[in-house]
Amino acid sequence: MKKTMLTGVRPSGNLTLGNYLGAIKNFVDKQEQFNSYIFLADLHAITSYIEPQKLKTAVQNSIAMYLACGVNPEVTTIFKQSDVLEHGTLGFIMTFQTKMGELSRMTQFKSKSSQQSKEGVDTGLFVYPTLMVADILLYNTAIVPVGKDQQQHVELTRDLAERFNKRYGDTFEMPDVYVAPIGNKILNLQNPLEKMNKSDNGDNKGTIFLLDDIALAKKKIMSAQTDSFNKVHFDEENQPGISNLMSILSKITDETFESIEKRFENKGYGEFKKEVAEVVANLLTDIQTKYHKYNNEEVLNEILKKGAEKASIVARETLQRATKALGLN
Ligand code: ATP
Ligand code: MG
Repeated sequence: MKKTMLTGVRPSGNLTLGNYLGAIKNFVDKQEQFNSYIFLADLHAITSYIEPQKLKTAVQNSIAMYLACGVNPEVTTIFKQSDVLEHGTLGFIMTFQTKMGELSRMTQFKSKSSQQSKEGVDTGLFVYPTLMVADILLYNTAIVPVGKDQQQHVELTRDLAERFNKRYGDTFEMPDVYVAPIGNKILNLQNPLEKMNKSDNGDNKGTIFLLDDIALAKKKIMSAQTDSFNKVHFDEENQPGISNLMSILSKITDETFESIEKRFENKGYGEFKKEVAEVVANLLTDIQTKYHKYNNEEVLNEILKKGAEKASIVARETLQRATKALGLN
């Protein structure tokens, strides 16, 4: 029997090149080797305020985008998190297995809450990792492909699964995280010390959205922050901007860093950026063509309906195992 792979993306805005290279591409490349699930993490999208209409649009767009990025509904179960009620219940249960200190230590919480602290920090930001724990454990997941920023949450999942199994008896499968060696943290093009985020509130100059106008996307790459070394060389510490562009190029084309460095040995950043811009433009053109083809509400709803039915069966079984172990039934 195939092992289970699962991943999810918050429909909190349009998907970015970071989401694609850091999570979705890795999932798509492996989807046939596993019993695969991908979900729209809409409950995670409401951990901080999002306009309801924006959420609705983002859900619709995200599923079409999954298909455009190569998720195959014949192979992979695609579903919306809120359609499977077990996520909420197990999330609640797993919150009770968690120490406040464990959640306070999460780097995502630390960085996102520091941006919020003026009006007070949302509880959602604090507890969402335990919902993610439930998302993963419900499907007996063996492997979770995510970007580097989410690695810590999968590690928390392992800790909590182990704690629960020890306290209440063997209930949950132990998941492994998969963080790909290249492209696991695509950086903001204007501020290569920060991760590229889909819910950026800035002017978006540093974020490439998969639905960006092609000319605009090229422009964003051409005006990406670099450095004054004038050497195409992979050095994340001293040349984060150039290294970021190299990661993007390498992840899309599979060309090694060594080979890229060699080809651009005596060439300027302009020429290098032009090639990266071209490669990204081709990728986006391909994805956008498919996106418009797949963005049909009726077809997408049918996929989600089927996906929810299939996911619910497994989720229900796992939740029953957990509630039985707890002595609730
Ligand atoms: P948000 O600002 O709403 O948190 P996000 O871009 O961080 O948006 P998520 O929905 O939180 O997107 O994450 C979806 C997946 O994409 C996760 O697996 C995450 O690790 C991955 N990911 C997000 N940003 C990047 C990035 N810049 N580079 C690589 N992977 C990323
Ligand atoms: Mg995020």
